Amino acid sequence: MFFSELVEFYERIEAITGRIEMTNLLVQLLKITPPEIIDKVVYLTLGEVYPPFIGLELGVADKMALKAVKLASGMSERDVERAYKELGDVGLVGERMLAEKSQVTLFMQQLMVEDVYSALEKIARVSGEGSMETKIQILSGLLASAQPKEAKYILRIVMGKMRLGVADMTILDALAILFGGGKEARDLFERAYNLSSDIGYVAKVAAQIGLDGIKKFKITLGKPIRPMLAERLSSAEEILEKIGGKCIAEYKYDGERMQIHKDGDEVLIFSRRLENITSQYPDVLELVRKHVKAGEAILECECVAVDPETGDMLPFQELMHRKRKHDVHKAVEQYPVIVHFFDALYVDGRDLTLEPLEVRRKTLESIIEEGERVKLSKGIITDDPNEIEKFLHEAVEEGCEGLVVKALGEEAIYRAGARGWLWIKLKRSYKSEMVDTVDLVVVGAFHGRGKRSGTYGALLMAAYDKQRDVFQSVCKVGSGFTDEDLRKLPELLGPYKISHRHARVETGMEADIWFEPKTVLEIIGDEITISPIHRAAWGMIREGYGLAIRFPRFTGRYRFDKAPEDATTIDELIEMYRRQLKKLMPSPAEGQGAT
Ligand code: ATP
Repeated sequence: MFFSELVEFYERIEAITGRIEMTNLLVQLLKITPPEIIDKVVYLTLGEVYPPFIGLELGVADKMALKAVKLASGMSERDVERAYKELGDVGLVGERMLAEKSQVTLFMQQLMVEDVYSALEKIARVSGEGSMETKIQILSGLLASAQPKEAKYILRIVMGKMRLGVADMTILDALAILFGGGKEARDLFERAYNLSSDIGYVAKVAAQIGLDGIKKFKITLGKPIRPMLAERLSSAEEILEKIGGKCIAEYKYDGERMQIHKDGDEVLIFSRRLENITSQYPDVLELVRKHVKAGEAILECECVAVDPETGDMLPFQELMHRKRKHDVHKAVEQYPVIVHFFDALYVDGRDLTLEPLEVRRKTLESIIEEGERVKLSKGIITDDPNEIEKFLHEAVEEGCEGLVVKALGEEAIYRAGARGWLWIKLKRSYKSEMVDTVDLVVVGAFHGRGKRSGTYGALLMAAYDKQRDVFQSVCKVGSGFTDEDLRKLPELLGPYKISHRHARVETGMEADIWFEPKTVLEIIGDEITISPIHRAAWGMIREGYGLAIRFPRFTGRYRFDKAPEDATTIDELIEMYRRQLKKLMPSPAEGQGAT
């Protein structure tokens, strides 16, 4: 397949803003893609070379890319810089510079998709001393054989700025239409994706084996399973009612969620966002090798920092010391951890995700040898709300956030990638609905004035609509930011700046600056109200109205551990809104009691 064919589609995709049109174009593109390279085409379209969990990034900055453009085009540094000043986009600079060059070079061989992919792969893989120079060399070589339009996209991919607005979910829709015969097959494809987190791999299985391969999709060690998530409720009675009377209530540890893949002595650790965090936890690797009595396993645990002097659990923030590469070994000593295992998804060739919780838990118990630093999550089986309430206080006292209450019975499978009612979290702070925080995505900003001139005055925040895969605005937040936050924000959000509202963002507000939905911040407000401006849950509560958060404030917590799709969903907002209403308007029985 010629790379120019792909580029033609990119040009068309870039020009549209509707999701349906985009899906249709993707269907056309994948239809003409040879099955052997469909994974590569999918990664490139997403602006990647590998699925994100591999953790290999292209890492080419503006300056380096411009240098490669200069080398490839033979233009002077001054020309390149002038074009950059004028266009402000390295991709466009590359396109222009090569257009000027191509007037002299006529008979060039056409680039194939594989050529581009393997050059990009090399760029991603080079590391160590002198790697920058090598990357520039490979890139300029590639650009030298590219047509101007091809250069534009090569540069965008290499700089991590593809921004076609295509997401994993859009590709999944296209795959279901193309290989599953329509949207009805969407669930099967979604399950395959949830079991592998690798959309390129799913595409390849579909294209090479067909729908049958998707139906019998197998878990692969090393490819993370998308995590099952919990809903929330504010009392033990409500939870028991929802969950069917009997449950296992477990401590909700306040640490870092880990999905551990063990293949003999090889161990990989993935974060909640499915990033490979193995190098941050050399101590956990040792613990797994010693305490997990299975050859192959995929297990989930919460890893909690403990005070080495008292053994007390420390808050989640203490694990941040692990994020600094050079300090990992120091952190291992100063901030030791305990891992609390709570689920088993795969053990010695057996996929457990469709097994009920009791079976998974039994399997987990049979392969974990507990020790000082390795535990099974603490839980009780009960049908008594008072007992749950008591257990909650106990958990909070011990430094946990609350409880995760889990359903029992045949239906209680591991629902990969889903937030559902099989797990319900209960935190002590859920007294009235907006006492709880929400995690929202920054989609726009407004210029600041006075003391805030030069930085942002407020940010436009959105919740996630999972069904439609879009981000809908829910508030404009200007309070809660420290001077330090205000200084940092332009730096943090700058890389995601775009010239127009993102195709996956819906709002009735006109922001001064628009961003790609990437950054998640924790927000607290006073209450949830209906709003004619914000688009969250649009028309679902009342025709012509969405939901908004009143008096929102930033809590100071940057949720870098959350992907935009992990933000609070509109379903959660609706739920919070409904509960709050119930509190404001007591039921008739309660009302009578009051008179
Ligand atoms: P929050 O923002 O409240 O931390 P979250 O959005 O990260 O929640 P939730 O699905 O709401 O994730 O809550 C489940 C999380 O609780 C899991 O991701 C896991 O990290 C953590 N956790 C702690 N203890 C347990 C446990 N025993 N079982 C399941 N999850 C647990």
